[in-house]
Amino acid sequence: MRIGWIFLIALLTPLMSYAGEQDRSHWGYLGIEGPEHWGMLTKEYMTCETGSKQSPIDIPTKGLSHHQETLDFHYRTSELHEINNGHTIQVSHTTGCHVDLNQRSYNLRQFHFHEPSEHHIDGKVFPMEMHLVHQDKSGHILVIAVMMEMGKEHLILKNLWNWLPEQIGKDVSIPIRASLREILPADTEHYSYSGSLTTPPCSEGVHWIVLTNPIKISEESLKKFSAIIGDNARPVQPLGNRHIEKN
Ligand SMILES: [Zn+2]
Repeated sequence: MRIGWIFLIALLTPLMSYAGEQDRSHWGYLGIEGPEHWGMLTKEYMTCETGSKQSPIDIPTKGLSHHQETLDFHYRTSELHEINNGHTIQVSHTTGCHVDLNQRSYNLRQFHFHEPSEHHIDGKVFPMEMHLVHQDKSGHILVIAVMMEMGKEHLILKNLWNWLPEQIGKDVSIPIRASLREILPADTEHYSYSGSLTTPPCSEGVHWIVLTNPIKISEESLKKFSAIIGDNARPVQPLGNRHIEKN
């Protein structure tokens, strides 16, 4: 009997410490798991604390240098899937979509949403922000951020919201094929700067493009997102000596 217990404890100990490790790397937006503590949760997240080129930022629009960066969208009509990963609603697509930035091609990996907006523009916070995450062949990350303001939303967004998964980890396929380019503003005028992922591990070297024109989200959709995900915006980080370009 006693040997049985010792055996059981010996068996459970590594399992418990493994669960402990998992707990430490768990992160969120509130309390001890919140953004001010991300860098201390595990050493993999240290950059959240020590990084000098972090995102999001408050974008000052006065006196920016003007450049002629070319951004071309090559988004094709695709089936869409969305998942509630516990931090956001993340959407993936089945057909190849990419953007060309100065003739360099970046494939679209996924897009997701933050509430309220993570980036501020001249101190202004928007109700939501969409992030389209891209990666080139060498692994460089390009994120296109689109501000969302209140108004009548595009039919594709309305469809995404109709199927918003409440349950964490559940993958839902959307019963329409959609061209994502339609959701975005026709004008690709944007700010660009060098930053980081806005979630742990906060890795730097991310090329950020923030479109100057917002898209619309309805009050009803905003409420639904709030109820399922809630506040998932990292506070703005110091700009430091970084330069922001207007393109
Ligand atoms: Zn994001």
